[in-house]
Amino acid sequence: MIRTRFAPSPNGPLHLGHAWSAIVAHDRARAAGGEFLVRIEDIDGARSRPMFTRQALDDLAWLGLTWDSEPIQQSRRLSSYAQAARNLRHAGFLYPCRCTRGEIAAVATEIGPDGPVYPGTCKHRQIDPLGAAWRLDVEAAMARTGPLEWFDELAGLQVARPERFGDVVLVRKDEPASYHLAATLDDAAQAISHVTRGRDLFEASHVHRLLQALLGIPVPVWHHHALLVEADAKGNLVKLAKRRGSPSLAERRASGEDGHALAGALRAGHLPAGIFLEKD
Ligand code: GLU
Repeated sequence: MIRTRFAPSPNGPLHLGHAWSAIVAHDRARAAGGEFLVRIEDIDGARSRPMFTRQALDDLAWLGLTWDSEPIQQSRRLSSYAQAARNLRHAGFLYPCRCTRGEIAAVATEIGPDGPVYPGTCKHRQIDPLGAAWRLDVEAAMARTGPLEWFDELAGLQVARPERFGDVVLVRKDEPASYHLAATLDDAAQAISHVTRGRDLFEASHVHRLLQALLGIPVPVWHHHALLVEADAKGNLVKLAKRRGSPSLAERRASGEDGHALAGALRAGHLPAGIFLEKD
């Protein structure tokens, strides 16, 4: 059975880019007679607001999307993340790190998909683990798993190259997991067969594939769809963002716009002025 998901982070209102992502995931499942699930990625306690969770669900319903079973919330799954992190730590794949972003930027010699690549500063240091972040020793992990592949429905077969991110944080200083760990565990817990999301998260899948191998959890197929883009102040086409001023879904809804009609227009490729679908 095909099962997809939409996984918004409730730290702001959803915009058209989110609507597009939810529609792609929803329609991918429905076209195959499968299920579409929702997950609220509210692990970031400092930035998440319950108001945005409620708003996101209302937005999806307004667009005419239906989901199967209750949405799950990451904030209620912290003990599962902590357990998985403990297992990885006991197996010797994690090490504590206290470096700040600034310190990493100052010593990094490479820029990876997520910014400056952490050069492994703390890997061979004695660090007090209390209150530290925990990083994945990608070299040790890959030595254990051997070469890995993953499959994207649109981009085809990929050789996993998680090392391009450096040793990613799996347990944050202030939270029992990071996005990479929580999302990977949740996709397995929700039995997602097709991880459907925007291309901006394509590179993250290299890390997720490695985590699946280490944690012994099922490997889904991926579907990284093209993004809605708009011109920034310099005229470059960039991913939609609320701060550039296009109305949020909640604002459109409040103004009386027809959500089903909006979803239909997006499906038909009829985009509002100034918004485009990224080219392949
Ligand atoms: N929560 C992420 C976001 O809102 C999406 C994560 C995912 O789809 O894996 O960008």
